[in-house]
Formats: sequence, C-alpha cells, structure tokens
Amino acid sequence: MIQELYKVSSLLESTQCEDSEYTGMIALPEQHPISESEQELRAYIQASHITRRITHAVVHCAATQPTASVSSILNYWKNVLKWKNPGYHILIGQKGFTVLANFNEVTNGAVGYNGNGVHISYIGGIDKAGKPLDTRNDLQKRLIQVCLEELKKKIPTLRVIGHNEVAAKACPSFKVKDAYPQFWTGK
Ligand SMILES: [Zn+2]
Repeated sequence: MIQELYKVSSLLESTQCEDSEYTGMIALPEQHPISESEQELRAYIQASHITRRITHAVVHCAATQPTASVSSILNYWKNVLKWKNPGYHILIGQKGFTVLANFNEVTNGAVGYNGNGVHISYIGGIDKAGKPLDTRNDLQKRLIQVCLEELKKKIPTLRVIGHNEVAAKACPSFKVKDAYPQFWTGK
C-alpha cells in the first residue's frame, strides 16, 4: 500500500541516498508530533543552535497525495528506500508541521545540496493522476514562509531555492521564485 502511494511520486522525488555521515535511524512517527502553531515553528527555529555550515534552504513537496500521513512517508523512506536519514528537516502537512531532523543533521533532500542544506517540504505536490500540482493549503503556504523567514534571520547569507532549480524534477510543483520572492535567491 505504501509502495502504491509512491509508485508515481518516486519519479518526482529523489530516491538516491547521497550522504552517509548521519547514521541515526529515522525515528518512529510517534516521536514526531504535528503542530499547526506558527509561533511554535518560529520558536523552534529561533531556539535551534545550528553548528553545521548551511548555505542553502531547499523547498520540496513530498510528491504524495496531500492527505498522506507522516508515518506513511517515514515508513517508505525507512523500509522501501532503506534510508537511514529522513528526506527533509521539516515536513508540513495540511494540519501542521513536523520536525523530522534537527538542522545539524544531514537529510536526504537533493543531490549536491544535502551536506550544507536545510530541506523543507510540504505533504502533497501531485494530483490524483500523479501529475505535479501545487496542492498547498493556506496553512502550508504560511508555514513554509515562516521556515524561510526564520532561517533567513538566523543565516543571513542563506540561499533559497526550489528543488526543481537544481534537479530535473517538478518538485515542489511550484516556483519558489514566484511564491516566495522575498526569500528566493536562486542557487
Ligand atoms: Zn524535492
């Protein structure tokens, strides 16, 4: 069933594991509470003590149906792709955000942009037929903006891009340049 969910989406998103320095296993879904609170997201990022050198924030979609659960995505990475690290640092569903990794951990978002990248993703990004579609609801749009805003405050030199700017992919199924012109920089 999980494989069914990802049959099409894997064509959009990376299935390669580029970085191996982070050896922690993907945590269980119950360790990842979902919060819709913008303030909580801001506070989390503001309180993060980032020691890793971060040059880029990359925006993604999970390339799933918009209603896909966090656990189905984690299970797919862990059990099907055999990843040891999650694909993104923050995953934003229709009902709120979930922290999947702290910013000092390397996640598996985009080849060439993992070692020094932060990866932010929304759940969704495809239509019923599996074609790329911007499925963000208002909360998802807002929480992505909050991530970029707070990360940019912490790291003024941060470059902000969409995955589709550095790979031949539709992800995140919209143009970051158009959706978040105040933060977008290009690679
Ligand atoms: Zn992506």
